[in-house]
Amino acid sequence: MKRFIITANWKLNGNNFLINNFIQNIKNYLSKNIITNTIIFAPPIPYINNIKDQIKNKHFFLGAQNVDTNLFGAFTGEISINMLQDINVQYVIIGHSERRLFHNESNEYIAKKFQIIKSKNMIPILCIGENIQEKSSKKSEIVCQKQLDVILKLSDENIFKNSIIAYEPVWAIGTGKTADIQYICKMHQFIKKYITENSNVHTNEIIIQYGGSVNLSNIQNFLNIDEINGVLLGNSSLNYNQFIKIIEIVNQTYNK
Ligand code: PEP
Repeated sequence: MKRFIITANWKLNGNNFLINNFIQNIKNYLSKNIITNTIIFAPPIPYINNIKDQIKNKHFFLGAQNVDTNLFGAFTGEISINMLQDINVQYVIIGHSERRLFHNESNEYIAKKFQIIKSKNMIPILCIGENIQEKSSKKSEIVCQKQLDVILKLSDENIFKNSIIAYEPVWAIGTGKTADIQYICKMHQFIKKYITENSNVHTNEIIIQYGGSVNLSNIQNFLNIDEINGVLLGNSSLNYNQFIKIIEIVNQTYNK
């Protein structure tokens, strides 16, 4: 079993007060407990430096929620991969359904981001997943396949090495409706098989997190399952009590 990876995506939430509270509580927890799993924390960018300066733990990493495809220049409002590297960000979430939907990001555009992140030896967290109409019309696999195809076409047989895929059915994000475990396993198996058949990457090297309404009361369902290598948390990462308890449950399960 690979180590379990917890990614926290704060989206457009938070302020100094909440971040400081969060830092204090996480610091406190990490100073008293040994964790062996990986935590990737992706707050809004303005708070990254504060967190980086205060939380120092070899299992705790910083993530960004987006990156531009340009490296520098006249691109008002954007953040480049060089800037993220400069502030110690190691992981970058791309292809989140909210960016696909609200910012019209296409599969091709997301593939460019993937390539730029890899070119800096940083780790993309590529979100893929079907919406409810696609699920109802039994197109979940074909949707994920198309989202993967653009990356597989980047002509690097090893492109999915040192990368994370977050399988996030859009209908499960922020809705309180998690996909059932059998369905998740089937989708994760499909994704792994599709990548291994179309690249040089071995199944064991493919890391897939599940995301979509994971919280304290259901986290246990996602643990100790070979196909699920981690979870991506939205809402439940915003509350430090809940977030720390989730880390604790994961830790207890994998440290047995
Ligand atoms: C997400 O934003 O990717 C997500 C999984 O959110 P939530 O946990 O709130 O469903």
